[in-house]
Amino acid sequence: MNPALTATAAATAREALDAGRVRADFPCFARWRAAGDTLVYLDNAATTQKPQAVLDAVTEVYAGGAGNIHRGVHRLSQRATEAYEGARETVRCFLGADSADDIVFVRGATEGINLVARSFLAPRLTAGDEVVVSRMEHHANIVPWQMVCEERGARLRVIPMGPEGDLDLDALEDLLGDRTRLVAVTQVSNALGTVNPIGEIVTACRRRGVPILVDGAQAVVHGPVDVATLGCDFYVFSGHKVYGPSGVGALYARREHLESMPPYQGGGDMIRSVSFEHTDFAPPPQRFEAGTPNIEGAVGLAAALDYLSGLGLERVAAHEAGVLDHAVRRLSTLPGVHLVGTPKERAGVVSFVLDGVHPHDVGTILDARGVAVRAGHHCAQPVMDFFGLPATTRASFAVYSTVEEADALVDAVAEVQEIFA
Ligand code: PLP
Repeated sequence: MNPALTATAAATAREALDAGRVRADFPCFARWRAAGDTLVYLDNAATTQKPQAVLDAVTEVYAGGAGNIHRGVHRLSQRATEAYEGARETVRCFLGADSADDIVFVRGATEGINLVARSFLAPRLTAGDEVVVSRMEHHANIVPWQMVCEERGARLRVIPMGPEGDLDLDALEDLLGDRTRLVAVTQVSNALGTVNPIGEIVTACRRRGVPILVDGAQAVVHGPVDVATLGCDFYVFSGHKVYGPSGVGALYARREHLESMPPYQGGGDMIRSVSFEHTDFAPPPQRFEAGTPNIEGAVGLAAALDYLSGLGLERVAAHEAGVLDHAVRRLSTLPGVHLVGTPKERAGVVSFVLDGVHPHDVGTILDARGVAVRAGHHCAQPVMDFFGLPATTRASFAVYSTVEEADALVDAVAEVQEIFA
């Protein structure tokens, strides 16, 4: 997904991922096969399937005896606390953060972004200030900033995008000014698959002293990420898009930011002491995790990250790049099929439209042929507006995707064309 990775991918091509073995780790495929049905699952940008290791980890949280974290003196509470805090350490390691205290468990990327918008940005934002996002953001990385900007009389500014679906980074330099309070950019576009040169964007922000949040929701699953090397201020991702459970995700933030931020929500487990006169808040990350968290979700997420790390993220990236390239190449040879976005670098996703067929019809007919894709605006309406489209059909790939599945997609698309010819 980036030049360094391409080099690594080449070096590891000799020990390529065995997609068949990987597939066997995900019980849903065997279940569908046993039922005599085909499941070509190409909606991985929406959510991923779960390996047995994740199912086992979540089950074990309950099978071994449920306990609440942090507060109990009994063994089940201690067991739950160890599992939960162990999961935090796994996320730290996966993201390359310095300390587990820099990791906040959240519901997902959306909540991570809202937390930063409310606790970091809002107190620093006054009328006339600016927040910069890009043209290719998911709504989750637009609406929270827009809400805070509207409340404070601040302005949301947008890094433009070219017709290939690449950001105009020269324009970013012009957008960064004395009033810029934060930049929020996706690492990988969920609608186009564009891999943004996030290192360059972070460097431009840091040169100007502007904090940057990176939305890693579509990135962490496709290749290695190291927040320390990246140098970003905030990084968010969701568990369910990386083979983990839904309802859990993580926010990485620089320590100095977390320490300066007020709590996001109030409640139990985020305090040092409470009286009717005054509450002393706990230090981060507990300060941002009010109430009983998604313990089994965090443990399942850690199992998913361990699973992915065990496969080797470079090998995963190399495998997926092969399948995706194959799909893109074959789709682009079909007359009447138009790829939406032809970015310099692509990961996981290809969006397309067919002459004379609505994307929803494409999706429905593909599903009848056993191929699950997404049709719609992909929660990225500004991207659709840019291309003058109401919707696209999107195929998105994962570690268990195969070249045969890419062929099944293309053959089914050709059949749709025949139906509408
Ligand atoms: N950011 C991007 C790029 C996404 O693709 C998504 C979901 O599709 C999100 C953020 C929001 O993720 P979630 O709904 O898991 O919070």
